[in-house]
Amino acid sequence: MPSVAIIGAGAAGCFCAAQLRKRAPELAVTVFEAGAKPLAKVAITGGGRCNLTNSFEGIRSLSEAYPRGERVVKRALQAFSQEDTIRWFTGHGVPCVLQPDHCWFPRSQDAMDIVRCLLSAMQGAHIRLRTPVTSVTPADTGNLLVNEEPFDYVVVTTGGASHFPFLEGLQLGIVPPVPSLFTFTIPDPALRSLMGLVVEASIGLAGTSFKASGPLLVTDWGLSGPATLKLSSYAARHLADTGYKGTVCINWLDKSQTQVRELLQETASENPQKLVSTTHLLPSRLWSHLLGKAALRPDIRWAELGSKGLNRLIATLTSDSYPLSGKSKFREEFVTAGGVALSNINPNTLECKQHPGLYFAGEVLDIDAITGGFNLQAAWSTGYVCAESIISSL
Ligand SMILES: Cc1cc2nc3c(=O)[nH]c(=O)nc-3n(C[C@H](O)[C@H](O)[C@H](O)COP(=O)(O)OP(=O)(O)OC[C@H]3O[C@@H](n4cnc5c(N)ncnc54)[C@H](O)[C@@H]3O)c2cc1C
Repeated sequence: MPSVAIIGAGAAGCFCAAQLRKRAPELAVTVFEAGAKPLAKVAITGGGRCNLTNSFEGIRSLSEAYPRGERVVKRALQAFSQEDTIRWFTGHGVPCVLQPDHCWFPRSQDAMDIVRCLLSAMQGAHIRLRTPVTSVTPADTGNLLVNEEPFDYVVVTTGGASHFPFLEGLQLGIVPPVPSLFTFTIPDPALRSLMGLVVEASIGLAGTSFKASGPLLVTDWGLSGPATLKLSSYAARHLADTGYKGTVCINWLDKSQTQVRELLQETASENPQKLVSTTHLLPSRLWSHLLGKAALRPDIRWAELGSKGLNRLIATLTSDSYPLSGKSKFREEFVTAGGVALSNINPNTLECKQHPGLYFAGEVLDIDAITGGFNLQAAWSTGYVCAESIISSL
């Protein structure tokens, strides 16, 4: 009876085990887990509610959701899509709901339903808890040795926080891991005084082409919200290289300079005698802050603005800059960019090119996504592909 070792009882590992149990119950599946519980991270995803996937309707291209690994994810999604995810969990007794922000959750809003469902679906697999794998090496017999024990197939699903020494014997290319999905520390008291403010804006890093749009939240330490998290993901490696220092540029109206000029000229011609400070084009606290930054007197009227005042206001609204002094965590939640280089992997099967019988799935690969359920979807899809690839090679 062929044997499979899965290393890591997380989202990808357990989904792979469940698929193997369903499709090839004759296989002996052993799951090695370093921790005391399987699926410990899945239990706390989405603030305990588990944002298990996304409808993908809010993104224009896959690379917008997956800054790294888009090509491999595209193939994995062809094999097991977001619709398949919903069908699979619903079919296994976990009805799901779609939120207006395109995120899918279990209807119960309880991540433990996802955990229980996966554990039930993988029944028959032997889970060895508190058993960290310290080595995976090729054996002379053609098998792979996991902690010196031979297996016919090995699937590595050790997640984003993986430590790679256990793979040293395999001589694989590793892209150094760096954090993704974090918030920005901005040491500007005037900005921080706007704490709690949320606006639809776009945010970028000066001197780079990294840019993201969406709700931007001002916090007591700097900037957070979907736009900031997206930018942290897109620029994860660049920011790691700069030590999380730089200049953040905010376009508060998420419009081009030309569009903002038209908007301001229209407002001026409709309200020539009105005070600029009382014609709020943005929430009033933010509007006053920005007029101050544009060096406009609080008692200035639209008719008095002049071309210099207008240009200063346009520049402040579209390219307001703040120093970035560091990163902070997003509600204790982040993923890792980097991992096992995709050049080691056959993108169709997720089998290692150098070591037949060795597969990789989930965040251990150099694949990661923005928030919204895309990371778990990558784990389900890649876990599925590994299981199916093993089954077709039997
Ligand atoms: C707090 C938090 C909330 C999140 N919320 C969401 C969300 O709502 N939606 C979403 O899409 N994504 C979310 N994510 C990201 C998502 O959880 C991960 O991308 C996903 O779990 C990755 O799955 P994985 O199977 O690759 O790794 P993991 O789920 O991390 O599993 C890896 C497993 O491998 C084990 N392991 C590691 N090394 C070894 C070893 N040497 N030997 C044996 N076992 C080992 C670990 O103990 C772990 O159990 C969240 C992340 C965090 C931290």
